[in-house]
Amino acid sequence: MQRIVVLAGGIGGARFLRGLKSAVPDAEITVIGNTGDDIHLFGLKVCPDLDTVMYTLGGGIHEEQGWGRSDESFAVKEELAAYGVGPEWFGLGDRDFATHIVRTQMIGAGYPLSAVTEALCDRWQPGVRLLPMTDDRVETHVLVDDADGGGRKAVHFQEYWVRLRASVPAHAIIPVGAEEAKPAPGVLEALAAADVVLFPPSNPVVSVGTILAVPGVREAVAASKAPVVGLSPIVGDAPVRGMADKVLAAVGVESTAAAVARHYGPDLIDGWLVDTVDAGAVPDVEAAGIRCRAVPLMMTDVDATARMAAEALALAEEVRA
Ligand code: GDP
Ligand code: CA
Repeated sequence: MQRIVVLAGGIGGARFLRGLKSAVPDAEITVIGNTGDDIHLFGLKVCPDLDTVMYTLGGGIHEEQGWGRSDESFAVKEELAAYGVGPEWFGLGDRDFATHIVRTQMIGAGYPLSAVTEALCDRWQPGVRLLPMTDDRVETHVLVDDADGGGRKAVHFQEYWVRLRASVPAHAIIPVGAEEAKPAPGVLEALAAADVVLFPPSNPVVSVGTILAVPGVREAVAASKAPVVGLSPIVGDAPVRGMADKVLAAVGVESTAAAVARHYGPDLIDGWLVDTVDAGAVPDVEAAGIRCRAVPLMMTDVDATARMAAEALALAEEVRA
């Protein structure tokens, strides 16, 4: 059985995984999920990227939105607002609240996040093994200008992304706690046993980059004997959705498919897929020592996404040969 390991963020990662499962239904897929977006709200631990993967693969996702639950209502949030309790800018629905309550209760009882995630997945049956990158607390912060001091201040990634809509310049992206974090149980083992490692079209800085920032993970990917293939989240010099260009700028990387490939570099990835509109970038990427192909990369539906996954696996076989 083919063992595939995927380093995934939220929406891009989850949608890709749905296509991958459809392309290779018999493969054993392990997902290493980003937890740098995690945030504590109303006393609850919220793991947006893990939940997006779990809900998407488990059939509970709000399809159009790409995050949160389907058939959602917001009574709890409205009641909290009536007490003047926010933040009002973070969307947490009633159904979603239950997930965060269960998670927080289990963590309070002493279970590590990896065990909690497994318990939540018992309900959702995502058809993949979903591992948080770490059981330790890591929270991505963004360094922005401080309107009142004239200096700079760090804000939580969710505040930068959701409240500010990435509309102010980001000077640095800091995965707070990453340096002291340990990979969650199973993460390094899965990478060591992988036949193929994939980077889905997830955010290269605040999703895949944060997972790679957990000590030992980047080294394990780089040392892997399995081919490592990525799919560009940048199409036609812009993110397909979201504001990945803003966080790429913060780390000095241009928003092009080729620049993202070079940012990962040939020590980390062996192959890279760009969209057909970026076919002109193929020679640039290959000159950097990374095998590159141009194929359609728009995840318009599960079939189109399954074809992308099949192309990624085909490129992996090509670099293995
Ligand atoms: P987040 O945690 O919800 O931001 O999700 P990810 O980090 O997994 O993915 C976000 C990235 O997915 C963004 O940079 C988008 O540009 C990219 N993305 C979303 N939809 C598509 C698509 O259909 N095709 C490609 N190539 N990239 C996509
Ligand atoms: Ca995310």
